[in-house]
Amino acid sequence: MQVALDDYVWAAGVATDLVNTAPEVWHGEDHLPDLAALAAFADLHSIPTPAQASDLRAVHRLRTTVRDLIDHPDREHLVTGASALTSPAGHVTLLTDSARWAVSLQPAATVADALSLICGVGILGAVQTLGAERFRACGAPTCRGAFIDTTRPGRRRYCMPGLCGNRVNVANHRSRRASLPSPHTKRLDVPPTIYSPPVKHLSTPSD
Ligand SMILES: [Zn+2]
Repeated sequence: MQVALDDYVWAAGVATDLVNTAPEVWHGEDHLPDLAALAAFADLHSIPTPAQASDLRAVHRLRTTVRDLIDHPDREHLVTGASALTSPAGHVTLLTDSARWAVSLQPAATVADALSLICGVGILGAVQTLGAERFRACGAPTCRGAFIDTTRPGRRRYCMPGLCGNRVNVANHRSRRASLPSPHTKRLDVPPTIYSPPVKHLSTPSD
């Protein structure tokens, strides 16, 4: 297996996905609980190395290490920690089909070794290209997730935008509705997709 060194956005995304499988992000429920889940995670991210029984603990340890790096986004700390993650890698080479810089994993490399290298490359690439301020905790008040923001504007706020971002939007919408003094004020604040116009009372009261 080879990992392209210039594909840090993909690699940082894998690192983000990995840390957000942790039990602390899911109220105690581990989203990488067993070998089958690890194999599915590897498959989802096109990591062809088959998972073995001993890999699970190694990946859990790696997950804790990567989370610790994201939680302490000091450039020197990130570079030192991420460099250590790349140590199971083999030799640096060029991909044969595109002449991109790449690392070939040793033949005996495990899925934990592959993920370690990918996380290391993702963190180093993000630090080098975007800076240490792109390592953040999730902005949703009830979420303990974390992420590496590789978006161009750098304004990502949530570890899982589709989940945490939507939760925050729904909560904000509810609190806005609750604080509206009457249906005739601030109507434009309500998103058009969820805004319901005032209902005309056509029926007579039941008394
Ligand atoms: Zn989150």
